[in-house]
Amino acid sequence: MKTTIIGFPRVGSLRELKFASEKYFRGEISAEELQNTAKELRSTHWQLQQENGISLIPVNDFSFYDNMLDTAVLLNAVPERYRALSLSPLDTYFAMARGYQGEHGDVKAFAMKKWFNTNYHYMVPEIEDTTEIRLAGEKPFAEYAEAKALGVPAKLVLIGPFTFLKLARFTGEKTLSDFVEDTVKAYCDYLAKLNELGVAWAELDEPYLVKDLSAEDIALFTQIYKTVLAAKGNVKVLLQTYFGDVRDCYSEITALDFDGIGLDFTEGKQTMALVQKNGFPKEKILFAGVVNGKNIWRNSYEKTLKILEQLRPVCGEIVLNTSCSLLHVPYTLRNETKLAESYQKHFAFAEEKLEELAELSQICASAQPQATEAYQKNQQLFCEDRHCSNAEVQRKVAALTEADFVRKPAFAEREKIQQETFQLPPLPTTTIGSFPQTKEVRANRAAFRKGEISEEQYVDFNKKQIADCVALQEKIGLDVLVHGEFERNDMVEYFGECLEGYLFTEKAWVQSYGTRCVKPPIVWGDVSRAKPMTVKWSVYAQSLTKKPMKGMLTGPVTILNWSFPREDISLQDCAYQIGLAIREEVLDLEKNGIRIIQVDEAALREKLPLRKSDWKTEYLNWTIPAFRLVHSGVKPETQVHTHMCYSEFADIIQDIDDMDADVITFEASRSDLTILDVLQENHFRTEVGPGVYDIHSPRIPTTAEIKTAISKMLSRIPKEKLWVNPDCGLKTRGIAETVPSLENMVEAAKACR
Ligand code: GLN
Ligand code: ZN
Repeated sequence: MKTTIIGFPRVGSLRELKFASEKYFRGEISAEELQNTAKELRSTHWQLQQENGISLIPVNDFSFYDNMLDTAVLLNAVPERYRALSLSPLDTYFAMARGYQGEHGDVKAFAMKKWFNTNYHYMVPEIEDTTEIRLAGEKPFAEYAEAKALGVPAKLVLIGPFTFLKLARFTGEKTLSDFVEDTVKAYCDYLAKLNELGVAWAELDEPYLVKDLSAEDIALFTQIYKTVLAAKGNVKVLLQTYFGDVRDCYSEITALDFDGIGLDFTEGKQTMALVQKNGFPKEKILFAGVVNGKNIWRNSYEKTLKILEQLRPVCGEIVLNTSCSLLHVPYTLRNETKLAESYQKHFAFAEEKLEELAELSQICASAQPQATEAYQKNQQLFCEDRHCSNAEVQRKVAALTEADFVRKPAFAEREKIQQETFQLPPLPTTTIGSFPQTKEVRANRAAFRKGEISEEQYVDFNKKQIADCVALQEKIGLDVLVHGEFERNDMVEYFGECLEGYLFTEKAWVQSYGTRCVKPPIVWGDVSRAKPMTVKWSVYAQSLTKKPMKGMLTGPVTILNWSFPREDISLQDCAYQIGLAIREEVLDLEKNGIRIIQVDEAALREKLPLRKSDWKTEYLNWTIPAFRLVHSGVKPETQVHTHMCYSEFADIIQDIDDMDADVITFEASRSDLTILDVLQENHFRTEVGPGVYDIHSPRIPTTAEIKTAISKMLSRIPKEKLWVNPDCGLKTRGIAETVPSLENMVEAAKACR
């Protein structure tokens, strides 16, 4: 049986691409040196796939920043403001990704959004009225030439026209339909070029198909592909879907002239039923996504063989595939030196998933698959007791009642009490929690981790950082302070390491956006709080100031969403377990004199099911309660904040209000503040800080710019409810831009008062 994958992690096993890119941004290496690193990585990744006998190897899955951005550039969708900078193509690309501030001008970056239901972010293409969509770039062809020279059996991958157009932003008068013709032409030209080059397979990724589709969407998809597929010539075209099933358009897509269709049998709840009910055209190849591209547990060969058995009578050729790009899992287990083999054997990262595909292919080729050694070994793994349960935790979750999810007194009463307690000025200023993580801060953590310094030295260093950070905030004139989070590598990993039931890794990085990677911990067993996690830092920070110091925690939904979850208990049970652990920490902070506690739910929005019909029944019904469980036990005068990354919660605005926090801060600065109307229309009750400037870019916002943002907010939000803050934590920023940015912010708030 043939095998393929949809994409491979591109940052490298030790994040080589990240480090090279950052060096390039700092002017420490040349563009050529950066290109060379990239080229080496591509070749290493292809070779690894070749060694595992992958039959069709993705090419053009590489990216310096993001594949959507690559696609925009390929299609000539480069907005005027970037062209006007007159930079090199590579620097123009990075200006779109990161913004640019320098001798050539001052422009903001593209907006960034979560890629479907993952923690990966894509850059939102901007299409202007003057944009002329046409095939303009060379990247896929150049990478194909590289692959060909290395003898790689290439499959050229690209985001498909439908998904590209559906996710793009149209910034002028024109709308999507004005660009369909040119986009179709560009993809036809793309296929013509692949014909010229002799490419065997072209994969077009259309994940948008797993969302709820309207009749117009389906008509648009069909219209686009009728023309595009007529231009395919000798190139075989694979329609690849992932992150769910294609229940709205199964018959339409199978009727089109694709040579292969990729379906997700892991997350696609209805995929199997669709295939069985409607059949699958025998002349097409089914690319069956059976190896989970998002989670790190070993594939159960028994389950996979069952899927294949069910498919065989219905389908012609089947190619074994991952459920989505392996971009969403870490690179390799090989670098995990501290994780015992008894754990490791249960996991498969990207490299090990290649081995799984190879094994599955061999097992399937055998006359007696169940008798093969690989199959039996796998069977045995799934029969083993993992020794991961905690009866006490299970008892607590089972004993939860309605009352555990309700904070008293009601919001309005608390709001009054808190206004009296804190006496904050109007438009109070604050930050989201972290301050710049300098080299020294990271070095201190690393040294402690490696045992090079004592705990005392480690703590003293951090205390000094906290003291400096508090002094800086007082000097800048912020109203509600933070300790800076210097002890944290990552807002989830830190808690994972403090909680029982979690496992953590050394090098298991996953790209989040651009050069930013995260190292999600693994939920191994029942979760509980072994000891206080943040109390001593917060108490120390509070001791340095009269201003309120926010205790800073990560909420249960975010901890869970940014971890690799268990597959043997429900997400709800796991979220309640974590919720109980964080609740203990909240009460501990309160007991120790912390009067404002922020519980970040940065990732609550991102795992909202892609289909609306599943929102309440499969997600909001347990995520909102999990958050309420965390804070329902605090006193009325304790102020509970929450923070969310990104502002796309117009559709669930009522549920966000129902989290019953006292204050929420979120990101609106990159999304032209449209969320403000939604807040106003829905009489949003929670106090809000919609983020007055974008921290994902090194640009320094001017006071005037921030004043404009605040005024706009004040036109929609009652002045008693508005907070002034950056749109996310500052840890990825440098001190150099952070200080003037915050100074400008405080000055703007004062002016507006
Ligand atoms: N408190 C966290 C910080 O400031 C929140 C980060 C986030 O929202 N991603 O870093
Ligand atoms: Zn954030």
